Parts: sequence; structure tokens; C-alpha cells
Amino acid sequence: MKKAMNIQVLGAHNCESQSSKLASLLIDGVLAIDAGALASSLSFPAQRKLKAILLTHQHYDHIRDIPAIAMNFFLREATISIYSILPVYNALANHLLSGEFYPSFLERPEGNPTIKFTIIEPHKTEHIEGYSILATEVNHLIPTVGYQITSPDGKIVFYTGDTGTGLAGCWEYVSPQLLIIEVTVPDRYEEFARRTGHLTPSLLKQELISFQELKGYLPAVVVVHMDPGLEKEIEAEIAVVAEALDNSINLAYEGMQLRL
Ligand SMILES: [Zn+2]
Ligand SMILES: [Zn+2]
Repeated sequence: MKKAMNIQVLGAHNCESQSSKLASLLIDGVLAIDAGALASSLSFPAQRKLKAILLTHQHYDHIRDIPAIAMNFFLREATISIYSILPVYNALANHLLSGEFYPSFLERPEGNPTIKFTIIEPHKTEHIEGYSILATEVNHLIPTVGYQITSPDGKIVFYTGDTGTGLAGCWEYVSPQLLIIEVTVPDRYEEFARRTGHLTPSLLKQELISFQELKGYLPAVVVVHMDPGLEKEIEAEIAVVAEALDNSINLAYEGMQLRL
């Protein structure tokens, strides 16, 4: 029997409060993507089940809980694998994990550091814990990769991380059943979105049309990284896009469970 892929949205927003958490997804309890809300959303036993963390880019809302998770692993003499592109490694090594703020878990304990960091390259499939992982570049302010995750049973999800428009090149590499993509602001903020490498509902619509033209289908779509203060507006505009494209597009929320 084929096993379902279980995707849990831990953080669905771009800013944090009591009721909104930063970007984090958890797949089958073992594979995390982005770490904006990993420690703060997971019990210690759930944290202990984590095998690997994939990071899309180095913006704080996507890496925030790395030091906290590392401390929890360090204290029980365990290790955690983290995968990302070279700029993210450099940012962590030179800043957040330089040793100035917290222990430098990339190097300590000596000989068996808490964090096993693997630098990945776009378009080269990695095999991690039985999953096939393909990173592809997206269009954000700084180097950023989305991740396509294929389970041992052939379930496929693609998460963009933060991205602006122009994903046609990216679509060539991925064929997901579920697309988790960002929409940060509503349409009236389009100028801001274009300047900062984010999407609005109308910009998402254009990207989905380009996906459909290239691939001949549309996957189910779940939207993340909303600005909580603008979410009602985003939700109304997304409903119009879903209707126009005759496709399922849902806004994510903290605790949302998706099954493939
Ligand atoms: Zn970002
Ligand atoms: Zn972000």
C-alpha cells in the first residue's frame, strides 16, 4: 500500500505574533523546510524526530529557530542535518552561528558538531532520508531556492520559499501534485511586491498560467507567507483567482495538515 505524504504547516506568515508564526513546513514529521517556527511549534519529542532541515534562503523569518533547535540537539548530544545553498551557509557561519550570539554549532562540539551542514546545488537531486530533493532557483531579493520533495512512494510537493515573478524557468524542473507558494501582500501592494521579490494574488495568477501553459495541468495550490494584517484582503483576491483558474487555491494556517 502506498503511504500518504503528510505535510504540516508550522508557520504560514511573514511576521510573528501570538497567533502567527514564521515560515516552516514539516513533512512526515522528519523533514523540515525553513526554520522560522521549528522550535516554537514542536514539542521536544517532535523535535527529536527531525532528521533534516532544508533552508530556502537566509532571511531571518526562515532561519530564526536554527540556534534554538541546535541547542536542543546539542544538550542531548545529538546532531541535526541542515541543507542549503552556499550563501545560506556563509550567512549562518559568519553571523547567526559565528559564536557571538550562541555557540557555533557548525563547529562545536569539536569533532562532532551539532549541525551537519551540506551545501547543495540547484538542479542536482539529493537523496535525504529516502526522499528525492531537488532545489531550483526562484526570484527573490537574495539567492533563494525552492524545494521539490518526492517521497519514496512518488508523492510530490514543491515549495517555492519566498519568490517574486518569473518562475517559468523554475517550472521546467518541477511537476508537483501540490504547490506551496508564497503570496505576501494583496494586489494594491504590487509595486512593493515587485521591488522586494514577493507575489500578490494577481502575480500568482500569472505564474500559475505560465505553469499550466508549460505543463498542461495545475496542481492544488496552498498559499503561505501572508502578511497577517493584510490577510483578509489576500484571501478575497485569492478566491477570485481560484475561480478564474477553476483550481483549488487555499490559504495556509498554523497547524494546517495536508495529505498527498
Ligand atoms: Zn525572504
Ligand atoms: Zn520571508
